[in-house]
Amino acid sequence: MASCADVLVMGAGPAALCIVAELVEQGLAVDALASHAPDKPWPSTYGIWAEEVESLGMASLLGHRWEKTLSYFGDGLGKEGDVATQHHFDYGLFDKNALQKSLLLRCRNVVWKVETASNIDFLGPNTEVTCQSGNTYRARLVIDASGHRSSFIRRPDHGPVAEQAAYGVVGRFSSPPVGKEQFVLMDFRPDHLNKKELKDPPTFLYAMDFGDDVFFVEETSLACSPPLSLEVLRQRLYSRLSHRGIQIDEVIHEEHCLFPMNLPLPDRRQPLLAFGGSASMVHPASGYMVGALLRRAPALAQQLARALAIEPSLDSADLAKKGWKSLWTNELIQRHRLYQFGLRRLMSFDEARLRAFFATFFRLPTEEWSGFLANTLPLPKLLTVMLRLFLIAPWELKIGMVFGLSTYRATLKGKPVIGVD
Ligand SMILES: Cc1cc2nc3c(=O)[nH]c(=O)nc-3n(C[C@H](O)[C@H](O)[C@H](O)COP(=O)(O)OP(=O)(O)OC[C@H]3O[C@@H](n4cnc5c(N)ncnc54)[C@H](O)[C@@H]3O)c2cc1C
Repeated sequence: MASCADVLVMGAGPAALCIVAELVEQGLAVDALASHAPDKPWPSTYGIWAEEVESLGMASLLGHRWEKTLSYFGDGLGKEGDVATQHHFDYGLFDKNALQKSLLLRCRNVVWKVETASNIDFLGPNTEVTCQSGNTYRARLVIDASGHRSSFIRRPDHGPVAEQAAYGVVGRFSSPPVGKEQFVLMDFRPDHLNKKELKDPPTFLYAMDFGDDVFFVEETSLACSPPLSLEVLRQRLYSRLSHRGIQIDEVIHEEHCLFPMNLPLPDRRQPLLAFGGSASMVHPASGYMVGALLRRAPALAQQLARALAIEPSLDSADLAKKGWKSLWTNELIQRHRLYQFGLRRLMSFDEARLRAFFATFFRLPTEEWSGFLANTLPLPKLLTVMLRLFLIAPWELKIGMVFGLSTYRATLKGKPVIGVD
């Protein structure tokens, strides 16, 4: 058994690396373990609005950046239905290897044990993690950053959880699927769907030009319970492309995406702290999280370091309590509830209403819609923005925003899609 660290972090994804880097910065003794080596390339690519990385001073870590950012919320029929909504706001993709490297550089002297945690015991002052190998590790506090599907974090059961699902291809195409140097956040045009498909849960195309005739196209279901299968998403992508006369000539990489959008917040009385997907930090209305990790890790690390400096004898439960309070402040909990409410409403909309909703949403001033998506608006401002959205919405959308619609609830056998934390 190793010596007892101040904090043991489980995981080696973006959440683990962000929090370890900040804990090290605070001078704490940190141990880490993960099922794979921390420098193993992450499987996913991470997108983010450029302003978010700029405000963090990390814009140099973007591998791609687009000025021409747009969406389509029309029906795809005729000139009117093909008009794009211009966002006039830069979007970027992290150079994921550079982000990983820069975080690892900050995790000075932390050596990850390549181990899979299988059990956690709370021994009073300390917490002990037992791994599949039989090895055990102790720390004053354990932070679970093992992702959305952690089996260690307790959270209430509020019924079925909605998941974001996507099937994407990086490849070469018979003709460009998006314009030169363009980034398409959401192409919701449904003109390739038949009558039956139009009644199924809506999906949209997320697409971008990588240069050198390489493009990334991804058919995405924002949130659905049960989630759309990869096969359905794949078929939708192919039918969308072929409707526009486009074939995929070469598949360079396939992306499969599935993660929960509205996991209930963890039970904040448990002696185990979490960070990242396991802490339900994904933005319930957009599915983004990396910006939040980078913004929220420093305050959490400072709070834990301060607590240990003032009271070195704090036990796991006391420390976790302080950590949960810092991670999920009352303000953030209220904002999370509003976002969950919003997502519930969105999930009840049929495809025409969903298009109308996003067309209205992106008519908000840029600082309002972007602040909403980044979760950087203070609560009173967020409420004002939601009220403004309601006021500028057409009547049929207003009704849906207040009462919700029953379009897809039937699939849930009467259970509520999302609970309230
Ligand atoms: C395909 C995809 C695309 C996404 N795109 C974006 C995006 O563009 N922008 C954005 O902001 N967000 C995006 N997200 C959402 C979110 O940011 C990611 O899911 C993110 O990877 C979650 O980070 P995490 O560190 O919490 O978990 P993960 O990245 O899942 O990392 C979990 C880590 O824990 C380890 N682990 C798991 N179980 C154990 C165990 N028992 N013991 C030890 N180690 C364990 C794993 O090996 C891994 O290292 C995307 C998600 C997916 C799935």
